[in-house]
Amino acid sequence: MSNLRFKVLQQAFEKKPIEIGCPKESTSSYYGKYVFGRRQMARYLSAETYKEFCAVLDNGAPFNRNIANNVAVGMKNWAIDMGATHYTHWFQPLTEGTAEKHDSFIEYVDLPGGDVIEEFSGKLLAQQEADGSSFPNGGIRNTFEARGYTAWDTSSPAFIVDDTLCIPTVFVSYTGEALDYKTPLLKALHAIDSAATSVCQLFDPSVKKVYSYLGWEQEYFLVDESIFAARPDLVLTGRTLLGHESAKNQQLGDHYFGAIPARVQAFMKELEFEAYHYGIPCKTRHNEVAPNQFEIAPIYSETNLAVDQNLILMSLMHKVAGRHGFKVLLHEKPFAGVNGSGKHNNWSLGTDTGVGLFTPGKTPEENLQFITFLVNVLKAVHQHNALLKASIISATNAHRLGGHEAPPSIISVFLGGQLSSILDQLEHADKEQAIIFDDKRHMQLGVTHIPEVLVDNTDRNRTSPFAFTGNRFEFRAVGSSANCGCAMIAINTAVAAQLRAFRAEVDEKIASGEQKEHAIFEVLKRYIHESKAIRFDGNGYSDEWKMEAERRGLDCETSVPLIYDAYTSPLSVQMFEETGVMTRTELKARNDVKWDTYTKKIQIEARVLGDMAINHIIPVATRYQSALLDNVYKMYKVYDSAKAQRLSEHDNSLIEELSEHISVIKQNVDAMIEARKEANVIENDRQRAIAYHDTVLPYFDTIRYHVDKLELIVDDELWPLPKYREILFSH
Ligand code: ADP
Ligand code: MG
Repeated sequence: MSNLRFKVLQQAFEKKPIEIGCPKESTSSYYGKYVFGRRQMARYLSAETYKEFCAVLDNGAPFNRNIANNVAVGMKNWAIDMGATHYTHWFQPLTEGTAEKHDSFIEYVDLPGGDVIEEFSGKLLAQQEADGSSFPNGGIRNTFEARGYTAWDTSSPAFIVDDTLCIPTVFVSYTGEALDYKTPLLKALHAIDSAATSVCQLFDPSVKKVYSYLGWEQEYFLVDESIFAARPDLVLTGRTLLGHESAKNQQLGDHYFGAIPARVQAFMKELEFEAYHYGIPCKTRHNEVAPNQFEIAPIYSETNLAVDQNLILMSLMHKVAGRHGFKVLLHEKPFAGVNGSGKHNNWSLGTDTGVGLFTPGKTPEENLQFITFLVNVLKAVHQHNALLKASIISATNAHRLGGHEAPPSIISVFLGGQLSSILDQLEHADKEQAIIFDDKRHMQLGVTHIPEVLVDNTDRNRTSPFAFTGNRFEFRAVGSSANCGCAMIAINTAVAAQLRAFRAEVDEKIASGEQKEHAIFEVLKRYIHESKAIRFDGNGYSDEWKMEAERRGLDCETSVPLIYDAYTSPLSVQMFEETGVMTRTELKARNDVKWDTYTKKIQIEARVLGDMAINHIIPVATRYQSALLDNVYKMYKVYDSAKAQRLSEHDNSLIEELSEHISVIKQNVDAMIEARKEANVIENDRQRAIAYHDTVLPYFDTIRYHVDKLELIVDDELWPLPKYREILFSH
């Protein structure tokens, strides 16, 4: 068997589920074992240090070198007891993954004839100089001065991977600009905390802090490792650039929530087992819509922690999959014609007094607060819809958005019938109708009675990129491979800026003698009116919606490089600067990174596509063609020409079809290479990305179309690449 495809299919076929030693103990007995959490701190820190450090974590008490030193010693002792020999500052550069550089704990003892001992100081824990010259930085640092610093993020616990203690850190340039996702995320979380707390205090002065929560749902595909290895496009780009749709894919809906295949089940069990050690509260697992597509979701937690946990989980997925003979595909659109993968970001805000700010309340005050936060989110999403789209778009996610059952490239909010009608009534009510005071000056909501449990909770509009789901918003447009931090920076900052504006407007009205509740109502009423265009409960997949959205003035741009422009619009710069989250310089630098990454991804795909077309596909098509020609030739040898002609009719038409496809493929690959050459000499990052989008990318579909046609006619025995039906249905 010389055809690699059949070898790998055989290998995949022979694989059996791998039994993992199922733990006998209960989950809670090993939950969080690899994390330096409170339980571990209590054991490894002195009572004094533990108390001091908890005060830092819980109440933002001042943090000093002394506490850092003491925590470092405890952390090191714990790590050594856990078998760690190295430590690393773990950070989140703009490449979407995470980065780490390992150092050993050993140091020479400063004594004559001294040996090595394990050492770790508060200084090493708190800050490191990372020679990060190869990380994307958008020109913030020159390479000759490639000093960036990583600094400890105390709010996310350190953890152990294999033999290494990983310390979550921020990554900033020598001159103080953020070079990562965590730095602006922490600032955004600070901004939403102070803005939302100030608004909460209009209703309940005892609120001192507001938390942002995130519950992500990670979708992914599993592909047999052997089959994966036989697809250069999967190996190098994470998606299939070629491949005709399988006769059967997801049309029967038989995969969704179906029985989980045995090999996959074994993988999931081990993944969860590992994840629990890291304190990741995995809750649900199930089959997704497309064949070989699955989902894992934990219970939500504080946003910064949830982002870190998602990154840890993504790397665990790759590791665990390897043990089960699988490759995990986190790409947003690995296969044409079936669903892509998202990472729904369930997002909410909650107070330190335990109130969910997107949860309908029991009292009129709570409900007015609920409406206040809801409407401010609508206003923020409306105003910054272009930016929110920019925060989730990428070369890879662009293939998914607007495709099979994926949100379109237009941001809108789904509220459901009940809430929509409440807002409609509010919009047209006057303040005496909306907010009524009884004889005892108790407030009542008039036209806007809000039921405690919204019936629409379950009325899930799956087509909406940003849907209200009863007590939270579900930002569904986020891509499966993304760092959730990027979307969380945008939404938390946008809402923070909005809440600041709201509070200022209300204060002004109160100062001019308006009653507080009426002042709130007046401002909300105007917001409801102004943000109306963002509300859409209909079918987001429909073409009518695209036209309607355009009419409503929502951002409908589909070109990725142009979508990124939203980051540096005057509106966005003002929003990021006034909230202290990012400066104009940082925003500009980040966009340069985004444009450059976009270009490189399309460039790699274009090269792989060209190589596969020319080296894999055309030679096979030609070989088949020559076999057909041989057959025709022999017909004429054996039969008289009339009979030979009749018998070789089918072969002849195939030969022509093959020639036709081969020549179109060849022409388009050549033209694509030319387009690349022209784009490559453009120096400006933005212009080069635009050139790649406008002049290189369009060849992909044409080349693919003709290759996929060849797949249908070339002898199956000769076809070198595993087909969709094989990639998607082997497990
Ligand atoms: P779905 O029906 O959308 O697939 P899942 O149960 O798969 O729902 O996931 C929902 C996610 O939303 C989980 O991570 C869950 O913990 C999270 N979630 C639930 N309530 C909230 C909330 N108030 N804030 C943030 N996330 C939440
Ligand atoms: Mg889900």
